[in-house]
Amino acid sequence: MRKTIIAGNWKMNKTIAESVSLVKELKKISADVRNREIIVCPAFTSLSAVAAELKSSNIKVGAQNMHFEKNGAFTGEISALMLKDIPVDYVILGHSERRHVFGEGDELINKKVKAALLNGLNSIFCVGETLKERESGKTKDVIGNQVLKGLKDVSKKDIRKVVIAYEPVWAIGTGKTAAPEQAEEAHLFIRKLLGKIFDDNTSNSVSILYGGSVKPDNIKELIAKENIDGALVGGASLDAKIFYQIIKC
Ligand code: PEP
Repeated sequence: MRKTIIAGNWKMNKTIAESVSLVKELKKISADVRNREIIVCPAFTSLSAVAAELKSSNIKVGAQNMHFEKNGAFTGEISALMLKDIPVDYVILGHSERRHVFGEGDELINKKVKAALLNGLNSIFCVGETLKERESGKTKDVIGNQVLKGLKDVSKKDIRKVVIAYEPVWAIGTGKTAAPEQAEEAHLFIRKLLGKIFDDNTSNSVSILYGGSVKPDNIKELIAKENIDGALVGGASLDAKIFYQIIKC
């Protein structure tokens, strides 16, 4: 059975005090949630404080990025080893803002996915097409390529520690959500591709999240689709009450 996961990506928002206050409230209101995994991904500066606050709660902590090397002369970077040391459970890799704002390519993202696995970190591996790519009929080529290259040399055993997030770039932070049918089509395509890379049993065990302007009023329809196993939520995860409405949908 696949896990249903609701993850919040806080991006470059919130001071340490604001982050702790958000998770204190979230912890209280979502204490009885058992049937789904809740993950919050604060900025690096808030990770330790948030992880301490969420220790022995039902909420997991994730980072938003990492470097693939263990240590060394990489000014400004953070390694998987350092994230494990906090400790965090997840790391978001290949987010569209990393791909498009910071120029991260598939090869680099693949190195990060493998480094996360090597260090026992779960990853939320993001893929998604731009509007131009969708409008020119390239959606499946683009996400297929991102999946194939990003998961290159990942074993059947290790893929179980990877969650995939389908996030059409045109839907992130724009208020435009993919129609549930559009999202399901992409998720099914990814699931079938995983079946070809690994096998059907393995493919059916991987949670595939949808991301892109998820809100309390559109989550129900999305999550009702067979291959949509949860959501990666940006803006709407910055308020505990709104995020909780998505969690309990
Ligand atoms: C995201 O950052 O991954 C995201 C989906 O953002 P938003 O929900 O704000 O579109």
